[in-house]
Amino acid sequence: MKIHEYQGKDIFKSYGIPIQDGYVIEDINDALPTIEKVQKEFNTKAVVVKAQIHAGGRGKGGGVKYSPTTDIALKNTKEMLGMNLVTHQTGEEGQKVRKVYITQALDIKNEYYCAITLDRSQTKDVFMVSSEGGVEIEKVAEETPEKIIKVWIDPLVGMKSFHAMKLANGLGLTGEAYKTAIKVFIKMYKCYMGTDASIVEINPLVLTETDEIVALDAKFNFDGNAMFRHKDIA
Ligand code: ADP
Ligand code: MG
Repeated sequence: MKIHEYQGKDIFKSYGIPIQDGYVIEDINDALPTIEKVQKEFNTKAVVVKAQIHAGGRGKGGGVKYSPTTDIALKNTKEMLGMNLVTHQTGEEGQKVRKVYITQALDIKNEYYCAITLDRSQTKDVFMVSSEGGVEIEKVAEETPEKIIKVWIDPLVGMKSFHAMKLANGLGLTGEAYKTAIKVFIKMYKCYMGTDASIVEINPLVLTETDEIVALDAKFNFDGNAMFRHKDIA
């Protein structure tokens, strides 16, 4: 089972993971008031309009639109709501966009990839990060595998600070951002365990121009088998 970005971000929020928050709309009549609410609440003119579908690759497929003014944001929202979005992950038939997320446009210094899943060959969880965030991780794995840093975590022992330090070091983070990233990684593992997810992925986790660490995207996959324990998510 997959969930939308905005739903994933709600879960992250409940685990104390810093997210780029926003508002989701389904009805075009809500577009203007919601754009204005985001502009006011985040003290910004520029917003980002994001299609909510059960697939990634939205950026490249035209499902993530930087909108510097209210008029452009409104135009982008109108175009996106109801469109059929095709990305490299949807297949040719695409997915109909029924929900659009409106969020603050951030000034980004760096984008990172972070993900946790089970490594069956080791019967451990593997936590992967890469300084090459925002792009397809398959491409990084193929062309520059040395840019993916991995730690293996025994689920019976749990994640320790040395795991998180290795990941934060691997991304070249320093100062407050390093400390925050360590906390975020530990919370991310708690979230992975607590939700029984088969994949938790943040791509990108960003370092902003003001040195804050924020999850800009959220991806979860769940095993059908574990869902009976998580009626809230189901
Ligand atoms: P997808 O993974 O489906 O392509 P993302 O949410 O990861 O969608 O967004 C794709 C890219 O769009 C990000 O890597 C980032 O560069 C940019 N982006 C997304 N949200 C914002 C935002 N709030 N501010 C600035 N840039 C953003
Ligand atoms: Mg993404």
